[in-house]
Amino acid sequence: MTCQYCDALKAKEWVVYEDDTAAVMLHKSPAMPGHLLVMPREHFTIMEQTPDAVVRKLAALANKASTSLLQVLGASGTNVIIENGTGAEQQIPHLSINIIPRVEGDGLSFQWQPKKLSDEQMGLAELQLKEQTKSLGVEPERKEPIRLDDNKAAGETVKKSDYMTKQLRRVP
Ligand SMILES: [Zn+2]
Repeated sequence: MTCQYCDALKAKEWVVYEDDTAAVMLHKSPAMPGHLLVMPREHFTIMEQTPDAVVRKLAALANKASTSLLQVLGASGTNVIIENGTGAEQQIPHLSINIIPRVEGDGLSFQWQPKKLSDEQMGLAELQLKEQTKSLGVEPERKEPIRLDDNKAAGETVKKSDYMTKQLRRVP
């Protein structure tokens, strides 16, 4: 299997920073000049497959990359976006964090139309998620990828609403 980001990492294409775990590169089809991608050097498709230590490293690097955009490019804000899984319209199956420099009036928009939910719908979501997430903060360190059924979220045959539900159900 070939992966566009693995290839770019190998070729050091537009890579502005790299270490043993992660790299920061310029996006080849940027939303704005200076649009950066922070990614693991090892091929992980989605966050859920990535060891916690690597996720922490990516988050720390994303923060530093964002700081650089504010300092060097004079951005007045950044959007930090992960397209996580095919249901989230992830195009390239290699986990990456987009850091997009923003200035007021730059014409980009990531706004969504808020859904109008009833109190009942909100209450149901709260109930489902509260139960499943109550032990999130005390879970042991995850070093191994989580086994997804048939690797659905990462693959081409994902049934859309499926994998997040599976993720939530994995909590004991
Ligand atoms: Zn890859």
